[in-house]
Amino acid sequence: MFLRELFRIPLEDQKWLTKRQTHLLTKLSLTSVGSLISFFPVRYEDRRKEESIQISLIENRSVVVRVRVMEHSSFYYRSRQHPKILVQDQETRAWLVGFRRFHLKTQLKVGETYWVYARFQYRYNEVQTSFFDIEPVGEGESDLFGKFLPVYGLTERLKQKELRKLIDKAMNAFLDSIEDELPETLRKKRNLIDKSLALKWLHNPEEDIYVKKARVRMAYEELLGIQLIVHYRKARVEHLNVDRSYPLHEKVDSWRNSLPYKLTNAQKRSVEEVFSDMNRSYPMQRLLQGDVGSGKTTVALAALLRAAENGYQSVLMVPTEVLAVQHVRKIRPQLLDLGIKVELLAASTPKDRRIFLLQRLYIGEPLIIVGTHALFQESVVFAKLGLVVIDEQHKFGVRQRIKLTQKAQAPDVLVMTATPIPRTLTLTVYGDLSVSLIDELPANRQTIQTEWMIRDRLDEVYDIVAEELAQGHQSFFVYPLVEESEKLDLKPVEQAYRELTVVFKSYQVRMVYGKMSAEEKESVMQDFADGKIQVLVSTTVIEVGIDVPNATVMVIEHAERFGLSQLHQLRGRVGRGESKSRCILMTAAKVSPDTRFRMQTMVAFQDGFKIAEEDLKLRGPGELLGERQSGMPEPRVADFIRDERLLEVARGDARAIIDYDFELKKPKTQCLVKGLLDSQWLPGYLAGG
Ligand code: ADP
Ligand code: MG
Repeated sequence: MFLRELFRIPLEDQKWLTKRQTHLLTKLSLTSVGSLISFFPVRYEDRRKEESIQISLIENRSVVVRVRVMEHSSFYYRSRQHPKILVQDQETRAWLVGFRRFHLKTQLKVGETYWVYARFQYRYNEVQTSFFDIEPVGEGESDLFGKFLPVYGLTERLKQKELRKLIDKAMNAFLDSIEDELPETLRKKRNLIDKSLALKWLHNPEEDIYVKKARVRMAYEELLGIQLIVHYRKARVEHLNVDRSYPLHEKVDSWRNSLPYKLTNAQKRSVEEVFSDMNRSYPMQRLLQGDVGSGKTTVALAALLRAAENGYQSVLMVPTEVLAVQHVRKIRPQLLDLGIKVELLAASTPKDRRIFLLQRLYIGEPLIIVGTHALFQESVVFAKLGLVVIDEQHKFGVRQRIKLTQKAQAPDVLVMTATPIPRTLTLTVYGDLSVSLIDELPANRQTIQTEWMIRDRLDEVYDIVAEELAQGHQSFFVYPLVEESEKLDLKPVEQAYRELTVVFKSYQVRMVYGKMSAEEKESVMQDFADGKIQVLVSTTVIEVGIDVPNATVMVIEHAERFGLSQLHQLRGRVGRGESKSRCILMTAAKVSPDTRFRMQTMVAFQDGFKIAEEDLKLRGPGELLGERQSGMPEPRVADFIRDERLLEVARGDARAIIDYDFELKKPKTQCLVKGLLDSQWLPGYLAGG
């Protein structure tokens, strides 16, 4: 049996567990034999070497010491007497403070020697510790001392010692029947230990070097699994055959020449990469990565136009209707003279209009459709769909993208994201895509001056904004919430709106928020884009994509409520034109270290990649790698920062395996499929077959 299969064996049926133990394990979400065995230690304690209380004090760490009990005493806490015991090693006296450990009073004998594991500290003019393990020095093997000991991440009432015992029991009962997912040849080649040994060493290592070896083995296996999924998905599409061709490009050329700016080199390169993909025999699967404001839409438009010029329908899918409307408004006039039609299709599209559009799509009119995911309802039938561009991919999920390629016509797919992520994550979350990187901003871009201010300085902020408005510029005010909330002291956007209409009474101040109807939103956004509104008060509906070059100030209230990538996105709404722009982050005076870090990161860095790296440090890759987002398992052991090298190795191996058997059907790959993968992560995979 593979470890994965042990996840199907419930702990409830196991005779070696009591009801109470099963209950406690359930509280830790450990309900199967597999999950118990895969509950790995968060760290290890080296309890093999005898040290001294002095060393503990100097190096501020836990140590093993041999002490003699000198004297019993006690202290009052919550109207009870708790034991306090004076001990001494070779040179130092210290107090063991035994909160609720009443049995120590009878258990520890004055004059006898004991092993203690603790971190000692100076407190209240004495040396003491209140967290310690203690055991008499004697013969016989000890559970707690003389070992390299695993420590588990426990929160419930389950004790470390007890959990270790339970895992030990599970291992004894099942370890012999656990098969290895990795073929021996692969293990040899990569110098990896086998599975049962890895499990044994993770839970019960004798040396730290064993932990390392076990960790590498497990991390490799996880990364290989993920990379197999990635390459499987990629290969499946590469084995499709589509006969679309794009011989014409005159309209693309004249559109390009009509632009008021020159494409940056990065944009040119990306356009070429996209065109060359489109002209291949299998569908494009490309990621266009570029920081906010780097001009991804222009690249997308080149592709959409190329498709239309050659008689294909295409789609630009965006996460919000506001953004869809903005895109249509920007794109339509650019293509008007070329005779190419751009249409909006969203939830709010009136019924008769929608029906008319669907008919045009059905008969194969080569339209460029801009819309939200309402686009992909069953009723929408494209007769000649050639290309799908997904803007702000991170707002969708990987599954939605994969679904697209599964459509009958297997369109070319270009996904765009401004959430720059470190390479290791790109290789994972977007590993099945080729990557075009826009690593260059249009030349006219200025850095956005970013400040972090506490809320008391609101008047100052108003002055800054007033100055910009006086110069004919516009400003955003962003708030995290719409409704009054009693728990959080957040100034609701409506109240702010009222205040701002007074402060800026000689200007047009308007508000947009999520619950407004699409039409209302659209009309406010349009007025803002047209300069009829100077101050836009908003919730995060404006977060993605909004492009109003004349806006020069972004004020973010309650900035502590936003994550780094969100803040970066919001800031990217300004600094899009020729004028100098500012972003002001407002928080309470007292903030958590976490918030402080985020604000300082925003002030220090403009570069989205840098910010993404900091974000990764702060939050870990969990969110990005979530099953929902990525459609693949989340690693337990592998670490995307630490294990970059290993990832490269696993990636190469996965590639080789898929080259040998792209359907993962051959006998030699079966252990990998059964042991590491699940058909839900492999689109189109049928077991057996
Ligand atoms: P994003 O990558 O964030 O989606 P957009 O495509 O919205 O960026 O482009 C941001 C702004 O930059 C738009 O106003 C667009 O017209 C403009 N732009 C795009 N490419 C260039 C360029 N090469 N030179 C100058 N401005 C450009
Ligand atoms: Mg964009």
